[in-house]
Amino acid sequence: MRSHLLNGLTAEHYRRSVTEGVERVAAKLAATERPFTGVAVDELSPRVDAIDLDRPLGDTAAVLDELEDVYLKDAVYFHHPRYLAHLNCPVVIPAVLGEAVLSAVNSSLDTWDQSAGGTLIERKLIDWTTARIGLGPAADGVFTSGGSQSNLQALLLAREEAKSEGLGKLRIFASEAGHFSVQKSAKLLGLGPDAVVTVPVDRDKRMQTVVLARELERCQAEGLVPMAVVATAGTTDFGSIDPLPEIAELCDRHGAWMHVDAAYGCGLLASRKYRHRIDGIERADSVTVDYHKSFFQPVSSSALLVRDAATLRHATYHAEYLNPRRAVRERIPNQVDKSLQTTRRFDALKLWLTLRVMGADGIGELFDEVCDLAVQGWHLLAADPRYDVVVEPSLSTLVFRYIPAAVTDPAEVDRANLHARKALFASGDAVVAGTKVGGRHYLKFTLLNPETTPSDIAAVLDLIAGHAEQYLGESLDRAS
Ligand SMILES: *Cc1c(COP(=O)(O)O)cnc(C)c1O
Repeated sequence: MRSHLLNGLTAEHYRRSVTEGVERVAAKLAATERPFTGVAVDELSPRVDAIDLDRPLGDTAAVLDELEDVYLKDAVYFHHPRYLAHLNCPVVIPAVLGEAVLSAVNSSLDTWDQSAGGTLIERKLIDWTTARIGLGPAADGVFTSGGSQSNLQALLLAREEAKSEGLGKLRIFASEAGHFSVQKSAKLLGLGPDAVVTVPVDRDKRMQTVVLARELERCQAEGLVPMAVVATAGTTDFGSIDPLPEIAELCDRHGAWMHVDAAYGCGLLASRKYRHRIDGIERADSVTVDYHKSFFQPVSSSALLVRDAATLRHATYHAEYLNPRRAVRERIPNQVDKSLQTTRRFDALKLWLTLRVMGADGIGELFDEVCDLAVQGWHLLAADPRYDVVVEPSLSTLVFRYIPAAVTDPAEVDRANLHARKALFASGDAVVAGTKVGGRHYLKFTLLNPETTPSDIAAVLDLIAGHAEQYLGESLDRAS
């Protein structure tokens, strides 16, 4: 069994094994004709259930055959140009190479003595990101597992910085289009059930700062503490960007921590063309970025950046065995001092190889392409009488709804749209997402694949309309 341990003696076995796996995936990528097979849970789960984990196959080729059957064959493939659903990107090759390297070396980024150069690479990428944001000379940050964790840590720092006698008095302001991790974080941080004040959005799905101003006034008038304002730079549904400079002013005036959730919009940090859309981000106290959304990185790759490195001390605990206090005096860089996690992947390596191979412009241009594609898609939808489209895109999402001319009952229209999404998924021809707007069911394209063309969008719109029409036809039959 020792032949399966990765070490100097097994280097050849390692090379063969990984190459075999890579060959299979490469063949799969080349042959995939649809983003999904449409497999149903009931069809797939018996295949997984039938496998006896206590009877290993031993042989890599046999295991890869089995994996083909239970996973690779029916996986949802984000690289396919007709995968248009969630905030998942196709990944860039240098980052996948990074993934292979980081798993094999298996550095853990918690302490210098488990990572050495990895620590310095992560720190340099943090500095690179804070410089792109413009957070100033005292900035710092740390890689995290994702935007949810970044938001949690940001709000932890904000809570600790807020001077308040009781957790029940703290208030967080976020728009109604903000991410649910803000609510979850408030709960985890022990704040009261009313802690998150939801601010309405305007027609373009941006936070209404007039209402924010009023809510902040009211909060203070009631003797409560405005702990933080979460501005979203790229809402998950609409890609809308809250008015960052105005929010920064209000945060200054009320002494509130300004957190910018740029989990999605961070791709603009690499864009020459559209960087100005997130102007004002440099005034944040903290920023969430998800490289695994708009930097074309594999899951996971995310970071929390802060204006003032000293605020990261709220996440610092010392353990004698790991990161003793004296290490700080000896200036040994232990990243665990800044992190909610302890053992932590060297995800930074993926971004490092990406920047070293492609450069920031390379990433920015890919993101520009999908933003431009979204505008083309918007024009298609706006000109198509079969569809109602919600907002002109600021990033790369489109939210729309099939509206049959002959049907006036909005609940029936809801059902037609829900049916179309499900039927499309079951066909595997394309994958789209859905959401609710004003209580009604809508469909959503999240465009993150520069390989997707306007004709793919047009073709998927025809498929959706076909499924919706079929449903409405059948429902007429049912009624008569
Ligand atoms: C995706 C997203 C998050 C959560 O990030 P994860 O990486 O999925 O944890 C937070 N905020 C926004 C705006 C997002 O789009």
